[in-house]
Amino acid sequence: MKSLKEYIQQAEDTKTAIGHFNISDSVGFWAVVNAAQKLNLPVIIGVSEGERDFIGVKQVKALVETLKQTDMPIFLNADHTYSVERVEEVVNTGFDACIIDGSDKSFEENIKLTKEAVIKAKKINPNILIEGELGFIGKSSAMWDEIPEGADSTLTKPEKAEEFVKQTNIDLFAPSVGNIHGMAKNFNVNYEKLDIERIKVIRKIAGVPLVLHGGSGIKDDEFKQAITAGISVIHINTEMRVAYKQALQKSFSENPDETTPYKFLRPAVIAIQAVVEKRLILFNNL
Ligand SMILES: [Zn+2]
Repeated sequence: MKSLKEYIQQAEDTKTAIGHFNISDSVGFWAVVNAAQKLNLPVIIGVSEGERDFIGVKQVKALVETLKQTDMPIFLNADHTYSVERVEEVVNTGFDACIIDGSDKSFEENIKLTKEAVIKAKKINPNILIEGELGFIGKSSAMWDEIPEGADSTLTKPEKAEEFVKQTNIDLFAPSVGNIHGMAKNFNVNYEKLDIERIKVIRKIAGVPLVLHGGSGIKDDEFKQAITAGISVIHINTEMRVAYKQALQKSFSENPDETTPYKFLRPAVIAIQAVVEKRLILFNNL
């Protein structure tokens, strides 16, 4: 089986993007796996610190490992990780990739933290992919009423991106290019306008593949342009959470007496899977 690095290279070459989907339980897990299997595509399963504490760090690794034995290209990423200790924990557990997130720190502090994470992670596993982040993209995968404060003033500057990548030796880079975590409650308002030109310049000057966070709520044609401009991994989370919650609410309102989890949860798996499939089809030009 090809490595994640090779799949990312392949995505760059074919102007497609690998979907990164967050989960926090077996409902999300099966939704992502079913979608990937159905479309026969590589995917990345992401777990933030909170998500992996809920499902279990070793447990989520064990779940993904069962698929590797069947040769399914499903990879595991430790999404937003805020300390070197927690980076080391996932590298030791056998994750394929990890994001060290120092984006709320000063430029110098972010470099220092990211550099240390890269050195310590590669010492444990030279093949792990470490992603760094520069520029504001917000923290919460929630629904917001208006654009989060500071979102427009902190887009990543290309020359800063170049210096950041050089100094830290990261494998993947997450820029701020108009993307924001979470999504607007009013779907008709286009809060997230991607700066396509900035993506092009950053990809060229930074020299490593780019990851787009906060994909929920971005319009289809903007995704297409972003992929062509140099994005090769796209994170989706909030849309899946919304689908999960709405399916559960419907499930309970239609069957208020149902007490069997695998019965009232099944519609949630199906609803999340539909979101994942839709995104995978778009990202892979299917
Ligand atoms: Zn993110």
